[in-house]
Amino acid sequence: EAQPIEDDGEAVAEKLGVRLTSPERVVYPGQGITKSQLVAYYEDVAKAMLPHIKDRPLSLVRCPQGRAKHCFFQKHDTGGFPEQIHSKAVVEKDGDKKDYFFVDDLAGLVAGTQMNVLEWHIWGSGFADIEKPDRLVFDIDPDEELGFSAITAAAIDIRDRLKDLGLTSFPMVSGGKGIHVIVPLKPAAEWPAVKAFCKDFAQQMAEDEPNRYTASISKARRKGRLFIDYLRNERGSTAIAPFSVRSREGAPVAVPVGWDEVHKLKAANAFSLAAAAERAQDNAWPNYFRQKQKLDPEVLGGRNA
Ligand code: ATP
Ligand code: MN
Ligand code: MN
Repeated sequence: EAQPIEDDGEAVAEKLGVRLTSPERVVYPGQGITKSQLVAYYEDVAKAMLPHIKDRPLSLVRCPQGRAKHCFFQKHDTGGFPEQIHSKAVVEKDGDKKDYFFVDDLAGLVAGTQMNVLEWHIWGSGFADIEKPDRLVFDIDPDEELGFSAITAAAIDIRDRLKDLGLTSFPMVSGGKGIHVIVPLKPAAEWPAVKAFCKDFAQQMAEDEPNRYTASISKARRKGRLFIDYLRNERGSTAIAPFSVRSREGAPVAVPVGWDEVHKLKAANAFSLAAAAERAQDNAWPNYFRQKQKLDPEVLGGRNA
């Protein structure tokens, strides 16, 4: 059993100069988790989480009345946020500019919690090189009837297929139903070529093992199968950030894990705040930020940026 989170969120916010209103308000009724406890949690994981989330566009799941009530997905900064949450203009597909949120420190995470952010979703590229992804994610989305061992086996299969292409990958339980297999990249190829690669990769899996996998988002095609969701790898798409809590029942957390423990995992939503905070103290992905890999021209084939 993990140690409970120390409930000192109010003091943390004050020290950082972030205004935290109603710190005692319960945001997860099932667990009695308060705003103040969420702040305390983010303080515990900030060192592990920030390198994955800082300085890239974010989408936020906000639940102003707590997790069981109405939540909404917010992509653009339309004002009213504390100054510790920053925003920057990004050109959208249609040529319009929209302001996207970003954070660069714990104060930003605390300010988000003040604004009832219960999920932090990240782009696959940073502001430094927004047209060139620095991470890929293969999001394994199971049909309801499949057991978790089918998901772990698929994650290992994806790892091995990536390895054959010379790519090192890292697993994360989503805090929901599936596992995300993540590939850190040196920003090099641009979004359209990267998306085409990811689509071909997922389609190849479905072609090789049509009874196990589908690369089609259609629920009908998913019956008894795993959807290899490559669509996270598109300019403007997002995926849940490592160490973000989820707005789902149980307050589960998306947690990086090691390949050597994947086969032992029982579910994707088994990490509580306390368990995730304990995990954050020793790095499951020690080599993640040391990878210098990129998608080589041979891997990209004829796909051009
Ligand atoms: P699970 O393991 O349960 O699948 P997940 O995080 O992978 O958890 P998905 O439903 O597979 O969840 O992926 C949804 C993704 O789509 C999120 O990661 C999010 O970044 C993105 N997204 C885009 N629009 C929305 C929206 N309106 N609401 C929620 N997520 C959205
Ligand atoms: Mn998923
Ligand atoms: Mn998905």
